[in-house]
Amino acid sequence: MLTAIVGINWGDEGKGRMVDLLSKDFDIVCRYQGGNNAGHTVINERGKFILNLLPSGILREGVVCVMGPGMVIDIRHLAGEMARLREAGIRISPDNLKISDRAVITMPYNVAQDCLEEERLADKKFGSTKRGIAPVYADKYLKKAFRMGELLDMARLSRRLPDIVEWKNLTLEGAYGSKPVTAEEMLAYFQEYGEPLKDYICDVGLFLNNAHKEGKKIMLEAQLGALRDIDYGIYPYTSSSNNIAAYGPIGAGVPNLKLDKTIGIMKAYSSCVGEGPFTAEYFGEKAEKLRAAGGEYGAATGRPRRVGPFDVVASKYGIRCQGADEIALTKLDILSGHEELEVCVGYELNGKVLTEFPFTDVLDDCKPVFKTLKGWNCDISKCRRLEELPQAAVDYIRFIERECECKVRYVSVGAERDAYIEL
Ligand code: GDP
Repeated sequence: MLTAIVGINWGDEGKGRMVDLLSKDFDIVCRYQGGNNAGHTVINERGKFILNLLPSGILREGVVCVMGPGMVIDIRHLAGEMARLREAGIRISPDNLKISDRAVITMPYNVAQDCLEEERLADKKFGSTKRGIAPVYADKYLKKAFRMGELLDMARLSRRLPDIVEWKNLTLEGAYGSKPVTAEEMLAYFQEYGEPLKDYICDVGLFLNNAHKEGKKIMLEAQLGALRDIDYGIYPYTSSSNNIAAYGPIGAGVPNLKLDKTIGIMKAYSSCVGEGPFTAEYFGEKAEKLRAAGGEYGAATGRPRRVGPFDVVASKYGIRCQGADEIALTKLDILSGHEELEVCVGYELNGKVLTEFPFTDVLDDCKPVFKTLKGWNCDISKCRRLEELPQAAVDYIRFIERECECKVRYVSVGAERDAYIEL
């Protein structure tokens, strides 16, 4: 069985927490796109963990984790992440972590390129996480990237290096006037960080197909949300890969397998990191309060996130892009303590109210149309059954289901593993 767990909004919906919770029912958890620009926060009985590259399933004994061919992997960062988890007592070995030989390696010069470009853009910058993700995906499609499988044959790799380094220096030195890199440096880098990974690198597609035949349950874990998908998101304020569920089997190494189910993770209010249109955005005191209540600061970067109320227009579109069969609504507890709650139900553009998400370039001119719902004043973080929630919270969930034409299956009311309600 193949299930995708994906973000409906701008990312940071609490996917890490839901994957950690749901992974109890899965044998394998696979990440299928993106790199260490992701920041998944998981809190469980062993502590608080921030995962950038490793699938969240790594925290569960008995779950095998897979890093799929659609990923870009910064091997130095991975070494650090593995070391930190091991220090916390998490077991990581080639039998519970498999890395695709086809996954692309994020190079130190990709990170440098990312920083150089943000510097060049100065006040026009996009707000890149500066982890080299856009440059490495660009290299992949220019067919100038290195892949994890190449680490298994350093002699062959070292023969390919000089031409690529020469080409990359045209950009680093020629375009940005920065320090060039040398093939020797890069080879030393591959040896230092690549050697220890050799036993983890394999054909994950074969592994997953065999597991699938044996009836194993496989979860595909996305990074970021539909509104950040390179093709369907708010371009160019997107990530550099496809995070939508339809890409899951491809990015995981199993293009032959069909998804059995897609679970969409959707936050009970909105948050967004970086630049770009964010129609329902709150400002000033309203924003400060919501940001502080929700702890909306980037897990990977610490940046304060932009926040706003739940956005029906954007979420309905996100659900459509993801083909979500059911929804996990997260962080409902954060909305406690308000007499009234606003929800964005339309975008006003040139005197008309849009209820479907438009071509993203016009978002700059859209103004939010809010509807006010009744709030609730009590703490709901201890509720474990729908009947225990105040009626206003139940009505809020039902309103979202109706407006977004989706079925809410889980409601998360706290960061801890058991703080959720199954409907
Ligand atoms: P991700 O990248 O989608 O995993 O999102 P984040 O890293 O931003 O995780 C969301 C944050 O909210 C983390 O600190 C979680 O522990 C926390 N969290 C997740 N679900 C809930 C919830 O239902 N209630 C509360 N209060 N916190 C939550």
